[in-house]
Amino acid sequence: MTIWRGNALRIDMTEHRIERAETPENGIGGRTWNSVTLLRELEPGIDPLGPDNLLCISVGPLTGSELISTCRIIASAKSPLTGYLGDSGARGFFAPEMRWAGWDQIVFSGASERWVYLFIDNDTVELRDASHLVGLDITETTVALIQELGDPDLQVAAIGPAGEKLVKYSIISCNLSRACGRTGMGAVMGSKKIKAIVVRGDKPVQPADPDRFQKACSDLKANIEAHRQFESRRLYGTTRIMESLAEMGVLPAYHYRSTVFEELDKIGSEALRRDHVVKSKACYNCNVYCSRYNYTSYGEGEGPEYEAQAAFTVKCGSADLELGVHVSNLVNRLGIDCISTGEVIAWLMECRHEGVISDADCDGVDLSWGSKEALLKLPEMIAKREGIGDLLAEGTKRAAEKFGTEARKLTAEVKGLELFSADPRGIKGYGLMNAVNSRGGDHYRGEPMIELTGDEELAMRRVGNPNAAHRLSEEGKGALVNYAEHMGILSDSMTICKNISCCMDVVDFDLAADAYSGLLGCDITKDEIWAVCSHVSQVERDFNLREGLRVEEDTLPERFVGIPIPDGPSKGTVIDIDRLVKDYYEVKGWEH
Ligand code: SF4
Repeated sequence: MTIWRGNALRIDMTEHRIERAETPENGIGGRTWNSVTLLRELEPGIDPLGPDNLLCISVGPLTGSELISTCRIIASAKSPLTGYLGDSGARGFFAPEMRWAGWDQIVFSGASERWVYLFIDNDTVELRDASHLVGLDITETTVALIQELGDPDLQVAAIGPAGEKLVKYSIISCNLSRACGRTGMGAVMGSKKIKAIVVRGDKPVQPADPDRFQKACSDLKANIEAHRQFESRRLYGTTRIMESLAEMGVLPAYHYRSTVFEELDKIGSEALRRDHVVKSKACYNCNVYCSRYNYTSYGEGEGPEYEAQAAFTVKCGSADLELGVHVSNLVNRLGIDCISTGEVIAWLMECRHEGVISDADCDGVDLSWGSKEALLKLPEMIAKREGIGDLLAEGTKRAAEKFGTEARKLTAEVKGLELFSADPRGIKGYGLMNAVNSRGGDHYRGEPMIELTGDEELAMRRVGNPNAAHRLSEEGKGALVNYAEHMGILSDSMTICKNISCCMDVVDFDLAADAYSGLLGCDITKDEIWAVCSHVSQVERDFNLREGLRVEEDTLPERFVGIPIPDGPSKGTVIDIDRLVKDYYEVKGWEH
C-alpha cells in the first residue's frame, strides 16, 4: 500500500553521480523504506564492506515536524559486524535539517576512490573533497566543516578514525555524540570513503490537515508531561535505570558474573549528576531534555547514557565514574559503538580473570577488573586497529575464534552483535527481544518495557495477557516482544525518539494514525500502520534468511542458558529461552 513517497537521492560513489528519485512506494518512512530497499536491491552474500553494499539514510514524513522529538535518522545496510541486516538510528538535529532540505532518503551505492563529504544545501547536492579531514575524530571533523563552511547552524553526520579503518562496530555520529551506534554503519560509510554528510535546509514541514495533526501533537505533549518518569528523565536521563536494574538484580557486574556491585553509589545516576553533569540538553523539539553535558578532569563531552555509563564501570568492575565518563566521551570522538566496545573490554577482563588469556595476549595491557590502562588504551587501539586492536575491531565473536573455545563460552553476543548492560535472565521479555530481533543482540529494537511496570491492565490492553506485565513471567512474552517490535518499527519510521515512544510508552497506533493522517492529509488507520510494520518485520526476516540465518541462532548466549542468576534479588532465576522463542514464533506464524 502506498501511503506517501518522499524525495530520494541516489548517489553512485564509484562514478560520483547524483540522481534524484523517489522513496520506495511501500512504507511510512525511515526504517520501512530502508529495509524494503535493501531486500529489493542487494544481492545475497555480498561483502558488506565492498562496493555492492548500499548505505541508506532515511528520515520520514513526520521528521522535523511539530510532533515532539521527530528527530532521528535511520542508517541501514548489510552489517559488516553480523552479516545480517544492519541499521541504527541517531537523534539530535541532523534529521530535521535533512527533511527541511527536502530529502527523505539518501542511498549510497558503489565506493569512491578518494575521501569525500556530501554537501547538501536544499536543492544543491555535491560531493566535495575530504582529504583534509582524514584522520580527524568526530568532534574535529564536525568543527572543521562548520568553520570551513562558515555556518554554525549546519548539521553534520560524520565518521571518526574507526569508520575510516572499517572497525566493524564503528558509528555515524550526528551533533558530535548522537550516534547511529549499532551494527557498524560507520564502517559501511567508511568503505565508501564518505567522511561526512553536511546538510542545510529551510523548507518547513507543513501539515495538510493542521487540526488533526495538532491533536496528535497536543496528545503526545500531554502524555509526556503526565508521565510518572517525566521529571526523573529530565534529571537523570537514561542513567536513572542503573539503580532500577540493581534493585531488580540484573546489573551485569564483572561481565555478568554477578548482579551485585558493592560500590554502586560511586557510579550511579546521583553520583553522575552531582559530580559530572554540567547542564541538560534536548534534541530537536523535545520537552524531556534528558541529554546532558558532562565535565571531568580529563575533558568534557555529552552523555553518557546508561549503556555507556554501565559498560565502562560496572560491567568492567570499575568504580571510577570519572574514568567511565571520560571513556564514553573518548569512544564518541573515536567513532566506536559504546555497547560493543564496553562488551569487548569486559569480555577480555573476564577471559583474563578465568585464565583463558593473559595480558601478553593483549599486547601487555593490564586486563585486571577495572583496569584503567585497559579502559584508556583499548578504545584507541581498536579505533586505529593498532596491535591487538586490529583483532578486537572485528567484534567479540570473531575475536573469540582466535582466543579459543573457552573464550568463546564467555562471550555475550547474539548473531555477532554484543549484548546490552543487563542480565537477560531476569527480564525475560528483554531476553527474548535480544534472541530474536532482526539486528542481533539488542534491547533497543523495541523495548518490552511493559514487563517492568507490573501494570496488568496495560499489558492486557497492549498484548492481551496480564502476565506480560511481570519481568520474571514467561507468559505472554511472545506477544509482548511482537508488540514491542512493531512499536520499534513505527518509531523508526516516525523517526520519534524511542525513549519517548517505546520506553515511556506514550505513543500508540491511534496517535500515530492521527499524526500521519494529519500531516499527509489522508486517512490512514491504525490497522493499516500496524500492517505496514508487520510487513517490514517480515521483510527483515526474509533479508536475514536470505543471508543464511538459521533458526538455532534465535537464542541467547550459552552462558545464560540453563544457568541461574548467581546472586542478588533475582538469585536462582533461569530463562527458558526455547519456550520463549517458540511462543514468539507462534505469534509470528513462523515454523519453529
Ligand atoms: S527524550 Fe532525550 S534523547 Fe530523546 S529526543 Fe528527547 S532529549 Fe533527545
